[in-house]
Amino acid sequence: MGSSREGGCSCGAVRYRLVSDPLFVHCCHCLNCQRQTGSAFVINLLIEADRVELAAGAPEPVDAPRDDGSKQKIYRCPDCQVAVFSDYGRPEVLFVRAGTLDEPGAVTPDVHIFTRSKVGWVTLPESTPAFDVYYDRHELWPAASLERLDAVLA
Ligand SMILES: [Zn+2]
Ligand SMILES: [Zn+2]
Repeated sequence: MGSSREGGCSCGAVRYRLVSDPLFVHCCHCLNCQRQTGSAFVINLLIEADRVELAAGAPEPVDAPRDDGSKQKIYRCPDCQVAVFSDYGRPEVLFVRAGTLDEPGAVTPDVHIFTRSKVGWVTLPESTPAFDVYYDRHELWPAASLERLDAVLA
């Protein structure tokens, strides 16, 4: 992947590098993600936190309330406040925001989720699984990714 595994914030204070491919790539169309990004969806690379190397800076976690009453940590550059990662209560797995990669176009979603709130003008490819809400990872993830997740949560 080369530089498609590197990314950072807008001001350059935070730079990160993914040391391997992600476990799986989500394109989430939920209302929380739309609100947080100010856009139609977010693209998240799910990857073990210990496979995200910080080359510069230290993103700071901010607790963001979600519509279900839970909170999600969004990691932001302390200077320009761009959000680079989040976690959903399991700090072992980071959700890296693909738009902060140096080459966002190098990443293709493996699944579309929460399509019940997808904006009408976005048309999804038929070749990619899509779910009204969520899915069973045991049915979609490659075996190697399931093993990696088990290992990091053990
Ligand atoms: Zn910054
Ligand atoms: Zn979402």
